[in-house]
Amino acid sequence: MTQPTHDKTLSGSADPKTGIYRHGFGMKEDVATSIASDYLCPVVERLKAGDFHLDLGPLQIYLAREFGFCYGVDKAVDYSYQTRRMFPDRRIFLTTEIIHNPGVNARLRDMGVQFLNGQYKGTTTVNDLSPDDVVILPAFGASVQEIEQLKARGVTLVDTTCGSVIHVWKRVEKYAREGFTAIIHGKYSHEETIGTSSRVTQYPGGTYIVVRNKDEAQILCDFITGKVPAETIMQRFANAVSPDFDPERDLQRLGVANQTTMLSSESMEIAAMARDALAERYGADQLETHFRNFDTICSATQERQDAMLAMGEMNLDLVLVVGGFNSSNTGHLVEIAETYAPSFHIEDASYIVSANELRHKRPGATGIDKAVNWLPPLPLRVGFTGGASTPNRAVGQAIERVVELCGLSLNNPE
Ligand code: SF4
Repeated sequence: MTQPTHDKTLSGSADPKTGIYRHGFGMKEDVATSIASDYLCPVVERLKAGDFHLDLGPLQIYLAREFGFCYGVDKAVDYSYQTRRMFPDRRIFLTTEIIHNPGVNARLRDMGVQFLNGQYKGTTTVNDLSPDDVVILPAFGASVQEIEQLKARGVTLVDTTCGSVIHVWKRVEKYAREGFTAIIHGKYSHEETIGTSSRVTQYPGGTYIVVRNKDEAQILCDFITGKVPAETIMQRFANAVSPDFDPERDLQRLGVANQTTMLSSESMEIAAMARDALAERYGADQLETHFRNFDTICSATQERQDAMLAMGEMNLDLVLVVGGFNSSNTGHLVEIAETYAPSFHIEDASYIVSANELRHKRPGATGIDKAVNWLPPLPLRVGFTGGASTPNRAVGQAIERVVELCGLSLNNPE
C-alpha cells in the first residue's frame, strides 16, 4: 500500500470506532490559498465592502446579504482539497458530486478526483476499489449501505458530511426508535434524502415516506382522514416509502423531518397539514401519541431564503440566481425571488448569452429554457445571489457580464 508522503500524517486522526477521517488532516492553512484562488472574486468582495450594493449610475447592483458557500460546503471543499494534498499518490474517489455545483466538481476532476456515481461517474465501481484507495463522502452524506460496502473494500474513508445533515439523521433515527414513521419533506432521489431514509431502515420496523410538496402531503392527509384508499398512497409513493410499507399500519404515528435545503415555509405548512389530519382522525387530545415535528431546515438555507425575501423590499427590476441546476436550495431561492421580480436561475455567466438571450432553468423544470429580451433597458436595479453551493466567483462573473451587456464598466467612478 502506498503510504501518505506528507509530513502531517498524524495531524488528522481517524475516528477510533469507525476508522473514518471526519475532521480533515490538519492542513486547512495549506489549502486555503488554493481554495481562495479557485473560488473567491474581487467583484463580490467589492460589493460586500460596499454594504452589498454597487452604484454604477444607471445600473444599481444589489447582492443578497447571505449567499454562496455555506459552512457545510466550506468544510466539504476544504476536506477534499486537504485529502488531495494528503494522498498525492493514491487514487481518490467521491461517492458522487461533492456538492451540487458543476464548477466545483470540475475543479476536483482537474485535481484527479474520480466519481463512483452520479453524472460524472467513471468506469470504476465500488467492487474495483482496494485498500490503497481513498473515498470521500460528500457534504450530503451517503447511505448506511454504501458506507458499509466501502468499509468492506478496506478503503480510506474521508467523511465531509455536513453537521446539519447528521442532525436530520439523528432526528429520524429517534422517530424510528420510538415507533414513528418519518415523513421526510424532500425529494426521494436526492442524495441527502437517500442517506436520511437509510438511517430509518437500520432499525427493525423503521418506516418512512418521502413527501415532495404540499400536493403530495395532501394525498397523505386524505388517506389519514379516510378520503382515499391505501392503493392511492402506494401508487403515488411507490418509490418513496420504506420496504413493505403498509399505509394502514405505518401512517398512524408520524414524525416530520426535512431535507435540509427545502423551502422552509412549505415544510412548516406540510407539518401543520399532517398534524391537523392526525387530529381529525384521532382527536386533538391524542396528538402527543400520534405526531412529532422538528424543523431540520439548516440555518444556512434559512438565512439565504431570508436574505432573498429581504431583497423584495428593493424594488428590483430583475434577479439573477446563480447556482447548479441540480441544487435544491438554489432552486428555492428562485421561487422566492420570482414572487417580487422577474427572476432567472443560471449556472454561471456562460448562460448569459447576450442582452437578448439568456439560458435558464425554471423552478421544478427538468430542461433548460431560453429567455429572449430578458435584460430591460437602463436605468435598472438588478439583484444577485448564489445558492449554498455556489462559488463567489460564479456570482461575480455573472455580475461582470451584466455590467458589460449594459455597456458599462466596473471601473466607472462611483
Ligand atoms: S445547505 Fe445546509 S445542510 Fe447543506 S451543506 Fe450547507 S449547511 Fe449543510
